[in-house]
Amino acid sequence: MKFNPLSNDHLKELESMVSPDRFSTGVSILDLHAKDQSAHSACRPEVVLWPETASEVAAILSYANRNRIPLTGWGSGSSLEGNPIPVCRGIVLDFSRMNRIRVIREEDFQADVQPGVIYQDLNEKLRHTGLFFPPDPGARATIGGMIANNASGTRTVLYGSTRDYVMRLVVALANGELLEMGTRASKSSSGYNLINLFVGSEGTLGIVVEATLRLAGFPAEYSAAVATFPSVQAAAQTVYDLKRSGLNPAALELLGPECIALMNQVDHLGLNVAPTLFIEFHGATTSQLSEVLDTARDICEARGCTDFRPGLGRAERDRIFKARHALGEMIQHNHPEHKILIMDVAVPITAYTELLAAMQAEVAPHGLIHYTLSHAGNGNVHLNIAGRRDDPSEWALVQAVSERLVMKAIALGGTATGEHGVGLGKRKYMPTQHGAALAWMKQVKTLFDPNGILNPGKIFPE
Ligand SMILES: Cc1cc2nc3c(=O)[nH]c(=O)nc-3n(C[C@H](O)[C@H](O)[C@H](O)COP(=O)(O)OP(=O)(O)OC[C@H]3O[C@@H](n4cnc5c(N)ncnc54)[C@H](O)[C@@H]3O)c2cc1C
Repeated sequence: MKFNPLSNDHLKELESMVSPDRFSTGVSILDLHAKDQSAHSACRPEVVLWPETASEVAAILSYANRNRIPLTGWGSGSSLEGNPIPVCRGIVLDFSRMNRIRVIREEDFQADVQPGVIYQDLNEKLRHTGLFFPPDPGARATIGGMIANNASGTRTVLYGSTRDYVMRLVVALANGELLEMGTRASKSSSGYNLINLFVGSEGTLGIVVEATLRLAGFPAEYSAAVATFPSVQAAAQTVYDLKRSGLNPAALELLGPECIALMNQVDHLGLNVAPTLFIEFHGATTSQLSEVLDTARDICEARGCTDFRPGLGRAERDRIFKARHALGEMIQHNHPEHKILIMDVAVPITAYTELLAAMQAEVAPHGLIHYTLSHAGNGNVHLNIAGRRDDPSEWALVQAVSERLVMKAIALGGTATGEHGVGLGKRKYMPTQHGAALAWMKQVKTLFDPNGILNPGKIFPE
């Protein structure tokens, strides 16, 4: 695609579409919108705009489309695959000023929100209603960014991913049209599901300006358990057993011993340094959860679990999962001299043990620093591999190891990305994973965005 660089006339016109305080070409602002949280290289946009209304977004898109100017949406910039990096420069639309929760319909379990709402803020606002929005990527992500990446997290094993919570969307298309899709009914079998096209499309088909989200009832009681195992394989097999048991864990996370050692060091958790499962259950009463924990203990011990620490109550659950959510940042801080490649793949649960074994076999012989953390209940693994910043050959090795493991995950019937999206880093796997379906995806892209202005350089291989 050939794009036009922004001229002074373009900039003047764009400034007039918002207002001077919602327009910036300042270098520090451009730099703040040049890079996400991944190891991918930064690229400065030419201008950042902060729209406040859907009609402003639509007008800017229409102008960008007519003038062949690339445009990329920006939520919090917390992506891990380069998804919001404006690699073709142009305009970045920052949604931090479109952060209103328009209405909460408690009785219908729904909320209408603007795209810049941070999901933790929504849950804080919902606290008194007994409802919550379950997807929990951990970082302070926006609803727009979560919809674009189909984000998920520790509770996805029970509650599903962002896709399962989007009932209705209003999207600004590249031609400036505002398109509403979906319904407020809790089920529908009417027509094509366009919402599912937009969720996970990383801002390449249209820009989300409003969403109606499905909410879930807050669990009355919580329990959590930490179970340690003699090997990663034993822990992985237990994941399968727990899923088969019908106990319905609300979180089922597997952490390698190196993760536990780091969490102990930073958060003084005093956990055994061994392959570990963090398990969470939600229920109506503590007596019910107590029985669930007893059964979970039996299942873990049958696989050789060496220590099972059950805990009841919200505080115990929060203590354990707070450290889990902070783990990604702990790893970065612990290795300032290294770049961290965060590999995100998912496989069918029956292939999970084989994938973990392949990961150990790949990284161990090279002595690479690595951390295995996994939303195990979904067969979703993040292998974080460190490569020294001043050693290009080590970084090339890290990338080669990651590439072999992503191909292995696809060969096992899985996906190159379980939750972080394609962005820049996973584009090269699209032909292998999707085969002939990729050409149909390309046609869908062309239908919605014929000039290719929306987040160019993402999803499709170069
Ligand atoms: C410490 C840490 C832990 C994480 N853990 C998880 C995890 O457990 N699970 C998980 O899924 N992710 C995780 N992530 C990744 C990240 O938080 C998610 O991908 C999140 O959805 C990104 O949201 P954001 O608001 O930061 O969006 P951004 O990163 O700003 O943008 C994401 C994508 O959305 C597009 N976009 C933004 N706004 C809009 C809009 N209004 N309309 C259309 N497109 C738009 C952007 O162009 C980009 O393609 C983690 C990140 C960090 C830093």
